[in-house]
Amino acid sequence: MKILVLNCGSSSLKYQVLEMSATSNTLLAKGLVERIGSPNACHSHKIDRKDKYQVEKAISNHTEAIRSVLEMLTDVEYGVMKDLSEIEAVGHRVAHGGEFFFKSVPIDDDVMDKIEKCCQLAPLHNPANLTGIKAMAELMPDVPQVAVFDTSFHQSMPDYAYIYALDYSYYEKYKIRRYGFHGTSHKFVAEKACKLAGMDLDKTKLITCHLGNGSSVTAIDCGRSVDTSMGFTPVEGVTMGTRSGNLDIGVVTFLMEKEGLDAAGINNLVNKQSGLQGLSGFSSDCRDLVDAEKSGYYRAELALKKLAYDIKKYIGAYAAVLNGVDMIVFTGGIGENSDRVRELICTGLDYLGVSFDFKKNAGTRGVDVVLSKRNSKVKVMAVTTNEELVIATDTMDIVNELREKAAIEENN
Ligand code: ADP
Repeated sequence: MKILVLNCGSSSLKYQVLEMSATSNTLLAKGLVERIGSPNACHSHKIDRKDKYQVEKAISNHTEAIRSVLEMLTDVEYGVMKDLSEIEAVGHRVAHGGEFFFKSVPIDDDVMDKIEKCCQLAPLHNPANLTGIKAMAELMPDVPQVAVFDTSFHQSMPDYAYIYALDYSYYEKYKIRRYGFHGTSHKFVAEKACKLAGMDLDKTKLITCHLGNGSSVTAIDCGRSVDTSMGFTPVEGVTMGTRSGNLDIGVVTFLMEKEGLDAAGINNLVNKQSGLQGLSGFSSDCRDLVDAEKSGYYRAELALKKLAYDIKKYIGAYAAVLNGVDMIVFTGGIGENSDRVRELICTGLDYLGVSFDFKKNAGTRGVDVVLSKRNSKVKVMAVTTNEELVIATDTMDIVNELREKAAIEENN
């Protein structure tokens, strides 16, 4: 079954086409459309045994971006199918499912309506996800679409972990609680790391650190998420690319008064102008900060140290939550690639039983690797994530279920 996986950001679109079966999966093509909405958008596309194809052109919206992807998929030279009818299903990454969704679901009008309702909870992501779903429905109306939520893995959190200490009526009235995000990634790397390390996920206490532009840390006990650093929205938790992470609410009200900011203004400030970007004053990209730190730029060094310190604090907290930890896993663009950030986090974790291999860590990027020493009580690994594979698997399972149901109904 050929499945197209779409991950729509506000101005970007990541995609993969996977050939899926119950026993195997093959990545046929992957690509990225960046700078959607600009005259010099960039579409890059990669298939096996061919150099990456890259073209710059005007792409004004997500529908045009998806059209460009579909053209590429049937291209004589770079395509992976003769006809688009070979795509049997589309799986979408959706950031926030609120309390509506506890698992992946086939998309219909009701689901779209509920995703729309969750837009206020994830203002950077849900609107973009929805745009992609609508564009796909317009271009390929007969192909089933599935939504895979970043929030569903964390639905196993106990009530005392997900509740905020506010008047309980706000939970009842508005469902204000902690939801958590990056669920597909945390679940995937936990399973993968255990498999690689020969450990039984059902008996393992894990702390997974997904560190990218958005970052979150999760405590996983026997395969179940029991706490995670993101909350009601993806702004809670550790310092991120442009998001502030945890903030004293007093700062919010103070700034609203002093700067004359309304709700939209303060939302914009904590989501888009804070984090590594806000601290460094010049970039949200970890690579830029590492380079600038080497040149002695104080605010880049401060931003990196703050990021690592936040994550270290969550590791300590989650070791307490789990009553110990067997493995710490790093993933995401920063977790997989930044030896500097991993080094900062893992310095001084000896008390916990982490014996970090600083030599092995240095220069290691983009691979599945054990970064702790042989005798380390707590294993440390960096593992590449593959959210698209989780999305494709869920999509395949749901489409198969729907087909089985339809076949039974037909026989009756
Ligand atoms: P997103 O949350 O948008 O999916 P990613 O997981 O792609 O983000 O992570 C983006 C982050 O990863 C950026 O801060 C980038 O600097 C960082 N990153 C990517 N490659 C490297 C690298 N080689 N060294 C250090 N950081 C890297």
